[in-house]
Amino acid sequence: MEFISPQFSFVTREEAWKTLPQQKWDVVIIGGGITGAACARDAQLRGLKVLLVEADDFASGTSSGSSKLIHGGVRYLKNAEFKLVFTAIQERERLTRLYAPFVQPIPFVFPTYTRKFPPRWMLNMGLHMYDAFSGFNEHHQNLTRNESIERYPLLEDKGLTGSIVYRDAFAEDYRLVIELIKSAHRSGATCLNRVAAVSFENLNSGFRTRLQNRLSGKECVVDSKLIINCAGPFSDSIRKLLKLPEKLYLTQGVHFLVPRAKFPIQEAYVISDPKQDRILFAIPWNSTTYFGTTDTPVKEVKEARATKEDLEYVIQEVNKAFNLPLRKEDVFQSWAAVRPLIKPPEKPEGAKSVSKVSREHEIIEEPEGFFHVLGGKLTSHREMAEEAIDLLGERISFARDCQTQDLPLQGQFFEGEANDLERRYGIFAPDIAAWDKAKNLGRMKITQDLPITAAEIYYAIHHEMAIDPIDFLRRRSSLYYEKADPKIIEAVTKIFAQELKHDQSWYQASLKSSENIYAWDTEGFK
Ligand SMILES: Cc1cc2nc3c(=O)[nH]c(=O)nc-3n(C[C@H](O)[C@H](O)[C@H](O)COP(=O)(O)OP(=O)(O)OC[C@H]3O[C@@H](n4cnc5c(N)ncnc54)[C@H](O)[C@@H]3O)c2cc1C
Repeated sequence: MEFISPQFSFVTREEAWKTLPQQKWDVVIIGGGITGAACARDAQLRGLKVLLVEADDFASGTSSGSSKLIHGGVRYLKNAEFKLVFTAIQERERLTRLYAPFVQPIPFVFPTYTRKFPPRWMLNMGLHMYDAFSGFNEHHQNLTRNESIERYPLLEDKGLTGSIVYRDAFAEDYRLVIELIKSAHRSGATCLNRVAAVSFENLNSGFRTRLQNRLSGKECVVDSKLIINCAGPFSDSIRKLLKLPEKLYLTQGVHFLVPRAKFPIQEAYVISDPKQDRILFAIPWNSTTYFGTTDTPVKEVKEARATKEDLEYVIQEVNKAFNLPLRKEDVFQSWAAVRPLIKPPEKPEGAKSVSKVSREHEIIEEPEGFFHVLGGKLTSHREMAEEAIDLLGERISFARDCQTQDLPLQGQFFEGEANDLERRYGIFAPDIAAWDKAKNLGRMKITQDLPITAAEIYYAIHHEMAIDPIDFLRRRSSLYYEKADPKIIEAVTKIFAQELKHDQSWYQASLKSSENIYAWDTEGFK
């Protein structure tokens, strides 16, 4: 059977692992979130020999737990972070073009109320700047009270003065990471999941990194001229191995999901909470609507999960903004993620709100040849990677300049209106049909009420290095977020067990492990 996508799987992973120590790498990248994936793609496209290692699964860190917005960030305007917003809007425009159909424009409705921050004039001023930063590709719209009530009947109308409608963009964050990794792989980079960097030795001519294969427990060492730390919220643990001081300030943000039928919105909404000086979003996504986010300091990344207090807070704010009540019993799932924010010069406890800690990024070289890409946003990943790899240019020469400014994510532009499958796989969508045929599946769905098919599991195993069922459930498809049903976990695990030739004890252990992950995210707020 012919596939458009190259093989990128447990087989290629095993083959690559065996040859790692014999190769001379230009750069080792630690972390397979959006930052590491973008750095790997950029560096490989410039002609470097790249190895990316991810301790868990690609996108298993913050990059599958964001609000899934490719946006300028209206609220950063209030903190006068104009450079951040300008760059983010430039990137939003670029990614909407180059990453279609994965990045999709969506309208946002920002209702305004009497005696509630922000006042309409201020919002208009900010959004005028937003429009200007896009080169006036966009013009936000002002709706009167009556127009708002007519168009958006779910909005709370008590005190409503009108609403402002503007555009930003949405992307399934984990799919962006997977597509970036696949793109890096197609260009020749070696990208491995379940491989952790565990120690470093500074050789005079470069670095020696000890790697641990998290599946076999085996270790090996690799030599490279340079290293980039892209470990997101774990970046300080890499810095600790080098005896460098901590740089990060971690906060967790949570999101809650309800079935879309229970909260049937068609556009995204912005909910202002002037008391906490922050904004929340209500966003329609496939069969769900999700709400978030929060911003609470957290000590350990692994501790992050939504709590009862988080749910109470989100319900309280949502119920002020809509006349359709959000009810606890309708919330069936949550996700939590940790922001790798850069510590501000003064202690954050002194600041009025943690939301004010900047989302800007910083790239530090410490020691020479070892780069740390800290902070940043999903939206700015390409630009951050470009800047990081440019800095590598001071230590190494490239065959080519940066290629990612104009290169489509999948190597060619996606033309026309995407159907459901194309929205998830872009130009590789025909491979799903090919797997369906190869396995004689008759377009069998995994669960009746969602469009995701069994063929997508085979595709994830053979072309997206999915190793565990949870990789598919949570980071290749939206199943985890759309339906918490043990039957789905069983169906997916069965196919993994057959295709990867695992025995019954693996099947049972894997089921249990997935169930525990689901339970972690639900039990915290129930
Ligand atoms: C709640 C929330 C909402 C957000 N919403 C948005 C949004 O809507 N729009 C936006 O632009 N930004 C948003 N962000 C920010 C954005 O999600 C993050 O900036 C981005 O995902 C960080 O990506 P990363 O690759 O740096 O980190 P991660 O995605 O965490 O990746 C780091 C990876 O490094 C791996 N790793 C760690 N240690 C090792 C090791 N020793 N060896 C190998 N691998 C290792 C980890 O397993 C992890 O997968 C949000 C953040 C949060 C928390």
